[in-house]
Amino acid sequence: MPRPLATRLFVDAPLDAGAEVLLGEHQAHQLRAVLRLEAGDAIAVFNGRDGEWRATLSAVAKKSITVSVEDRLREQTTEPDIWLLFAPIKGPRLDWIVEKATELGATEIHPVITRRTVVSRVNLDRLQAHATEAAEQCERLSVPPVREARSLGDVMDRWPKERRLYVAAERRGVPPMAEAIRADGVPAAILIGPEGGFEPAELDHLAQLGFATLVGLGPRILRADTAAAAAMALWQALAQPPLADRRA
Ligand code: SAM
Repeated sequence: MPRPLATRLFVDAPLDAGAEVLLGEHQAHQLRAVLRLEAGDAIAVFNGRDGEWRATLSAVAKKSITVSVEDRLREQTTEPDIWLLFAPIKGPRLDWIVEKATELGATEIHPVITRRTVVSRVNLDRLQAHATEAAEQCERLSVPPVREARSLGDVMDRWPKERRLYVAAERRGVPPMAEAIRADGVPAAILIGPEGGFEPAELDHLAQLGFATLVGLGPRILRADTAAAAAMALWQALAQPPLADRRA
């Protein structure tokens, strides 16, 4: 297997042998001024559709760089389908949730406004940039989209019923998430509440929904960001069929 290239960039352009891709100003600055790369240096590029490719810097200007796409390093793969829904929290811990969700394989990221959510505006561009950066560094072949923030009621009203929803519910005496997860390949999602927790009426309503299961994450009350990372890691560990079955 070829050695991974240290620098990976997400590009929103078709990738094929011989393609020339013009990088944006921010990426050009990163490569030229921060990483000190020059014409002829190789990087890896991916676009979430065509796998990962080796590309060489061909034209290096002050504000733009063009790379020549050469050969495919990895085929595109289908990722286990898991969304993370969470009530946005204040400050850098919000960015942390998006970064960790991306590293832990979230296929979509949904900020959800619950009754006790104190953050009403979410900077989607900033969160999407964090997701892109995390995907680049963790060697993912896709970047999860960060969707518009919507109210919990709206999200539940328009829920795709074939997707199973695990609602992290503290202090409810519900089954541990580890017992509730099923490894049957059904698309899933995890919902994490705000710093103040869900209102009891919200949890009562969620518990009535056929596609939702209330689950616990242990006896301690976790911060929302910890709960998001713990639940994502648990799902990734337990929801995949055993490796032997996947190879068969
Ligand atoms: N203020 C709430 C309280 O004291 O009960 C705690 C809310 S907690 C900081 C934020 C969110 O993380 C919760 O709404 C829940 O989704 C999740 N969470 C935290 N600890 C949990 C646990 N032990 N089991 C299940 N979910 C948990």
